[in-house]
Amino acid sequence: MLVATDVRRIALLGATGSIGRQALEIVDAHSDLEIVALTSGSQPLDDLAARYRVEHVQVGGDVIQLLEACEPDLVLNAVVGFAGVGATLWALERGVTLALANKESLVAAGDLALAAWKRGGGLLLPVDSEHSAVFQCLEGRPSETIDSLVLTASGGPFRNHSLSDLESVSVGEALAHPTWSMGPKITIDSATLANKGLELIEAHYLFELPYEKIDVVVHPTSIVHSLVRFRDGAALAHVGYPDMRVPISYALTYPERRATPVPTLDLTAPLLLEFEPPDPERFPLLALAREAGERGGTYPCAFNAANEVAVAAFLDQRIAFLEISPLVEDALADADGGAVSDLPELVEADAAARRLAERRLAPA
Ligand code: NAD
Ligand code: MG
Repeated sequence: MLVATDVRRIALLGATGSIGRQALEIVDAHSDLEIVALTSGSQPLDDLAARYRVEHVQVGGDVIQLLEACEPDLVLNAVVGFAGVGATLWALERGVTLALANKESLVAAGDLALAAWKRGGGLLLPVDSEHSAVFQCLEGRPSETIDSLVLTASGGPFRNHSLSDLESVSVGEALAHPTWSMGPKITIDSATLANKGLELIEAHYLFELPYEKIDVVVHPTSIVHSLVRFRDGAALAHVGYPDMRVPISYALTYPERRATPVPTLDLTAPLLLEFEPPDPERFPLLALAREAGERGGTYPCAFNAANEVAVAAFLDQRIAFLEISPLVEDALADADGGAVSDLPELVEADAAARRLAERRLAPA
């Protein structure tokens, strides 16, 4: 349980990443936010550990023992990819407040995570900007009043590229996101719209709504972070400049909504609020994610695993941009998809989907 006046002990997982660094900026601004654990995948943490006087520090490996030892009030899971799944399940099971940036864990482990969350009874605070927006629009409103959610997507750097333009885009071009500055994996996911596909599944589990009640719309300026439509014809939108410090701060200081350095919208300056439907032909991974979500079982896990393999291969220049989605589609077609009952089984489903995707990468 989070109490507003206490010191909040935070385990920051993925401290060296884009979200991790911005989270430390928020922590620096509040003396009652205390870092009690720091982790990274491979980057050294010595400097951060010294600066925050943190004893529980880990580079790589399973973080469960570290989480047990540091007794956090809040876990900020800012790890990238399936590697974050253990920490997500740990926090949900124990009812420790989970500030979740690591969407892949909720996508891959959705059913297990939901069951753990129900048993643990703690808070799950989304850090993903769209989900933080929806969470804030929904707060305290009975579920029967909700008509549907609308997740906004920037459309990424290739929104106006034709299919033939997309054939030759480079890694550098794919990494140049128009509105958000983020880690490489999510930036590529934004260029393919796989990110919005992951977010669709993330929203399904976070807000427990069926997929047909979750829409996606392309909104290039990323000013509207998402909307909730209600049954009376009203819709609430969350608007502001695209800056992850807002949702990170909201989660870390919930329910207080402390001040951040981010200004509110200047409505005297020109503001473009345009919306268009996503194009399924150029960006097929969004529809594929929806299909994986609707099929349920471990299909979302397989989608995520194959996408992680494909994105890593693209970043390594082993495949072209337009080879990402066929690779995911093929792996998903061959995936078993059956439900799992625990984390070891999920880890196996993830590994099996990775093998399917990697087989397609191997030279013939
Ligand atoms: P990043 O690549 O910048 O940072 C990832 C962090 O995870 C690093 O600290 C890295 O050391 C750590 N890490 C990587 N592999 C690991 C492993 N195997 N085990 C443990 N730690 C590992 O990524 P990011 O952009 O900060 O994104 C982190 C998560 O937040 C992702 O799930 C992403 O989808 C989500 N997210 C990010 C943003 C953003 O603006 N960056 C916005 C919304 C959601
Ligand atoms: Mg997002």
